[in-house]
Amino acid sequence: MLIGVDFGGTHVKAGVVEGGEVIRSTSAATRAGSAPEEILDVLAGAVLALSPTPQGVGIAIPGEVDSEGRCWRLTNVPGFAGIHVARELSRRLGGCPIAVENDATSAALGERLYGHGREHPSFLMVTLGTGIGGGLVLGHMLYPGANGFAAEFGHLNVDRGSDAPLCACGQRGCVESFAGTKALVRRFKELGGGETDEVLAISISARKGEPAGVQTFEMLGEGLGRGVAAVQNLLDLNAIVFSGGVAASFDLIEPYVRKALKTYTFAPPLSEVPLLVSGLGERAGIIGAAYLTTL
Ligand SMILES: [Zn+2]
Repeated sequence: MLIGVDFGGTHVKAGVVEGGEVIRSTSAATRAGSAPEEILDVLAGAVLALSPTPQGVGIAIPGEVDSEGRCWRLTNVPGFAGIHVARELSRRLGGCPIAVENDATSAALGERLYGHGREHPSFLMVTLGTGIGGGLVLGHMLYPGANGFAAEFGHLNVDRGSDAPLCACGQRGCVESFAGTKALVRRFKELGGGETDEVLAISISARKGEPAGVQTFEMLGEGLGRGVAAVQNLLDLNAIVFSGGVAASFDLIEPYVRKALKTYTFAPPLSEVPLLVSGLGERAGIIGAAYLTTL
């Protein structure tokens, strides 16, 4: 029995996965400001609710983790720097083997096995949300990197200007500072679109052809496109796969991504890479996490 856990920072979703489908699931919220010990208890509790004697569990976390299961830090969950997530959970789950991986890298594994990765041997998975994550598959193999930091797509620099927007990582001009939810909401407001904390309002505005929505998506598409161009110049991939809330509006964003790709790639074949939307949706995190234990 494969169990995957998607730890989103404020919530935990866990599921039993068979043949690429989530057949049973549970979820739990974590209290804001909880200590890591408490959050690890919630994670273990979600697993035990699915199986009292788990045989192997994969965990996707919103941050970087080394091959031993030690967390570097979680940007949005304080206190996790240096925490050995795999060991801590194994201790709570009767010594059961635990595999821990970055959430976007886990999503890339799900996509490799049950999504576009079946047709495209080498691709970059881009997860769009508050943070912009990346997961890399090369020649059908998941590539987490030597230290677990591969494909930090959100933090590729796409604007060297001294007035480039500040990113949550402390640098200026990262892809995330143009394409993350906070950047979109801020731009939409600046353009007169109004106050919102959801990308749905921006999608609706863009779908209606209103300038605020359209121009916000133009910024998003251009930021993504510049980042994807850099990736293509380095790797010449078979496809780029997008997931997350904004991906549902990808038809409105794609022209700007493609335009930036044409401008910034070295040669035309690199700019013609298929830009795809993941079909796994909300389940991708759990599915990818579950299969981490099979690697
Ligand atoms: Zn950054």
